[in-house]
Amino acid sequence: MTANLLDFDLEGLAVFCEGLGEKRFRAQQLFRWIHQMGVSNPEDMTDLAKSLRAKLAGTARVTPLAVNAQHVSKDGTIKWLFDVGNGDAIETVFIPEDERGTLCISSQAGCAVGCRFCSTGHQGFSRNLTTGEIIAQLWFAEHFLRKHLNRQDRVVSNVVMMGMGEPLQNYAALVPALRVMLDDHGYGLSRRRVTVSTSGVVPMIDRLGQDCPVALAVSLHAPNDVLRDDLVPLNKKYPIAELMAACNRYLAHAPRDFITFEYCMLDGVNDQPEHAKQLVELVAQYSTGGVWGKFNLIPFNPFPASGLTRSSAHRVADFAKILSDAGIVTTVRKTRGDDIDAACGQLAGDVKDRTRVGQRMAVRQTARTVMIKPVTVFAKQPQEH
Ligand code: SAH
Ligand code: SF4
Repeated sequence: MTANLLDFDLEGLAVFCEGLGEKRFRAQQLFRWIHQMGVSNPEDMTDLAKSLRAKLAGTARVTPLAVNAQHVSKDGTIKWLFDVGNGDAIETVFIPEDERGTLCISSQAGCAVGCRFCSTGHQGFSRNLTTGEIIAQLWFAEHFLRKHLNRQDRVVSNVVMMGMGEPLQNYAALVPALRVMLDDHGYGLSRRRVTVSTSGVVPMIDRLGQDCPVALAVSLHAPNDVLRDDLVPLNKKYPIAELMAACNRYLAHAPRDFITFEYCMLDGVNDQPEHAKQLVELVAQYSTGGVWGKFNLIPFNPFPASGLTRSSAHRVADFAKILSDAGIVTTVRKTRGDDIDAACGQLAGDVKDRTRVGQRMAVRQTARTVMIKPVTVFAKQPQEH
């Protein structure tokens, strides 16, 4: 079987090279060609030993993802839909800002957690992505954007595991992918700029702290177990008290000294002043001092099947004020790319028609988004990045 070179972190690649009868250190060169230069054909890796190039030709390749579609938002956000076979598709979103470029990466096709307010959750679980499929999203975006923005330096400065799927339910594939992102011979991203977002898989939060500490975002969405059980079903297994205790254990290893708590604002469900006050009490109960936890309020991005609606702007502002007045650092997330259904929780990515809802939504989406040739898109705006 042909190996996918994107499946390996540097250590894995060294073992692979040894298996071919090559020296371990050759892996470093190979790794740099793939991830830093974006080269996929061993024949083009000019300073690589001829013997290794020959062996690679028969045994390994860089397997890219098949691009199904690219949508560009009027705010510059780009969403790619990748076909991962068997009728499944995943989505990746690039969000350009003045000082950084953030890539939002998927970890699974679908998701088994089934949060009420999440389009991916409504779709159900299809399968875990491989390390190669997780890293291929970054490999593609980084090198595609460098080429089309005509840039030599790094375009993606931040990665958030906030696309489709629950990353901590695909732990074995996630950790090597994170290592490739962090490796100086790979993408060289700072641990503080790689964020794993989780709905609260407590044992895996602990393992991540041991194996590969990066910035952690916890999708809280409710201040008490009754409400959270309803919104995030995983809460029945790992209730808030256990989750908060895991956050405190994680902070001992984390590259940042605070956890980001995400809170999706749902009209009349979790957005009342009493909910904000309960959050203040929760933070007071678990905080170990300093900033400890930052709250990121996300205006709900609606989709028809949810039956939920977005809290009004003034309700969000009032909620934020109660938290801020209690000394909790609180931000309201700017919604990006909502004209292309690229905003949080809108990633559906499904090309398999499981429910027929998907089909109707796809028709709606095609009608509203414009397919633009990449070259045309970037020719006009490289100075903005
Ligand atoms: N499974 C992980 C990461 C993917 S979801 C998690 O749940 O954390 C990324 C973020 O988007 C999470 O905070 C999630 O709660 C939020 N989200 C999901 N659906 C949303 C929606 N419809 N509107 C706004 N945010 C949403
Ligand atoms: Fe899964 Fe996260 Fe969506 Fe919940 S919010 S269903 S955990 S992707």
